[in-house]
Amino acid sequence: MSSAAPPPVPAFHPPLAPVDGCELCREAGGHLVFQSPRWRVIRANDAAFPAFYRVVWRAHVPEWTDLPLADRDALMNVVAAVERVLRESLSPTKVNLASLGNVVPHLHWHVIARFDWDSRWPGPVWAAATREPGFAPESRFAVTLAELDNRVARAVAALAPAG
Ligand SMILES: [Zn+2]
Repeated sequence: MSSAAPPPVPAFHPPLAPVDGCELCREAGGHLVFQSPRWRVIRANDAAFPAFYRVVWRAHVPEWTDLPLADRDALMNVVAAVERVLRESLSPTKVNLASLGNVVPHLHWHVIARFDWDSRWPGPVWAAATREPGFAPESRFAVTLAELDNRVARAVAALAPAG
């Protein structure tokens, strides 16, 4: 689908002041797609929801309003860029955006491509399964997950702060 070379494999950079016991301070939290100095994009390893990405703020802050407005704007632009790639690449029934943090109170946004055939539609991905699709969800995708990751990485790289 795309002839552009994949971006280099990123390395996880933990926060400068990690919080004990926080898994998003300790590890990437999924397949690391892109790491900037201030945030990263990962893909959750969830077979039922293969196009499930998270945009994670690097520093440990619990709440959205802990970030200054400029940082909120920057992070929401990253969320929007991921959503745009999912829409253009997969034509999902809906994209779900969520920021909960009840289990891991380290600021992150979920960006999830949803389909009317997925196992929890129309509930949230965290709801009980309502059906089994009977096929591997990613087999319905027009692109491989590796290509999807590449597209996400290229889209958000343009938004990454220097240094
Ligand atoms: Zn943390």
